[in-house]
Amino acid sequence: MTGIRSKKSLGQHFLVSERIVNSIVELISATPEQAIVEIGPGQGALTWPLSKIGAKLIAVEFDRQLAAQLNREFEKNSNVTILNQDFLKFEPESKNLDKFILCGNLPYNISSPVIDWTVKNRNKVTKAVFMLQKEVALRLTSTAGSKQWSPLAIFTQLYYETKLRFTVSPENFEPLPDVDSAVVTLDIKKEPEIKNAVKFEQLVRKSFKQRRKLLSNNLIPDIIPDSKTAARIFMELKFGPKVRAEEIESSKFLELTEKLVSLKIL
Ligand code: SAM
Repeated sequence: MTGIRSKKSLGQHFLVSERIVNSIVELISATPEQAIVEIGPGQGALTWPLSKIGAKLIAVEFDRQLAAQLNREFEKNSNVTILNQDFLKFEPESKNLDKFILCGNLPYNISSPVIDWTVKNRNKVTKAVFMLQKEVALRLTSTAGSKQWSPLAIFTQLYYETKLRFTVSPENFEPLPDVDSAVVTLDIKKEPEIKNAVKFEQLVRKSFKQRRKLLSNNLIPDIIPDSKTAARIFMELKFGPKVRAEEIESSKFLELTEKLVSLKIL
């Protein structure tokens, strides 16, 4: 595609490596019976090989010029629909989509909202394949006990198995991004039973409010009234008194939520 300048504000770093494109399409591994939604098709680097699978493909591009160009290029492909809109406002129901695979070389400024969108639409998104900023990919796929363990990983991994597949260096894009990238996959898991999901989320966010602080200091007094109560609850749950949020697994956060709810503290 020529004559269109890339827009930094829309995170436009186009993939120019056929090898990386092929590896991503392989991970998406769709069949003609499935449906695919692509976020930010740009100049069509992924859209073209995906269109050849024969699956229903909806590509959502915010940039009016790029969307118009893609619409012309895919005019004759009846399985491909190009939508010119903000992906974050995309409603799968509007296109009669039931289950689908979500993918994209994401504009990095919307990666976290896209991951939130995915989790919210988990009844439809069976699998996702995203190119992300490497730092976000490491956070998303981290485990408890690591510096990257975060609310993003906790909320996503409750519902999806997340895997970092490979890293991608800047020279695979045009124009060059300032950071390394990585491709991650999210595969839907059996929905866990969470009795107090809203309170759980509130507790996790507060726990990580100031990462360097002890868990107790993040929770007192906003959630747990005083240090005596915190010490008693932590002892019952076998949390060390010096524990920090980044050391706590999701199942332990769930236990803490239940405990606090049962004591009518949360
Ligand atoms: N898929 C192409 C590729 O790999 O070469 C382009 C990837 S580029 C990193 C991100 C694309 O997302 C750009 O085309 C940009 O215009 C588009 N974009 C940015 N914000 C968007 C949004 N909110 N909704 C949909 N597309 C968006």
